[in-house]
Amino acid sequence: MDTLTRQQRSKLMSRVRSKNTGPEMKVRRLVFSMGFRYRLHVAKLPGKPDLVFRRKAKVIFVHGCFWHGHDCGRCRIPKTRTEYWMAKIKSNVERDARTQFALREAGWSVLILWECMIKDEDALRAKLENFLQ
Ligand SMILES: [Zn+2]
Repeated sequence: MDTLTRQQRSKLMSRVRSKNTGPEMKVRRLVFSMGFRYRLHVAKLPGKPDLVFRRKAKVIFVHGCFWHGHDCGRCRIPKTRTEYWMAKIKSNVERDARTQFALREAGWSVLILWECMIKDEDALRAKLENFLQ
């Protein structure tokens, strides 16, 4: 049974979606320790990228697998209000695609880091090195 009220749910959702989440902090710390400097959540860029490397014209997004509909198996649609969640996630996925398109059109390189990739630090470091070098 779905026990959350609408209000409780929106509170929970805003907490889940809030900035400075675990995976994002981990990426920020790692990027910083590798000697790269960045700006955060630049509001005037499409999608407000999580990390912005202005001179390199590169941005990084750290995406939660559930919210952004990753096909890694971590995005399991809840059994209650299934249609609501499916529509919600679908609209997030579509928005992400539009955002990435707009950024690339404007000359930015975009790296998406999924929450499920963050745990393997060596792989993550290699990916970042490759993208930012
Ligand atoms: Zn994932």
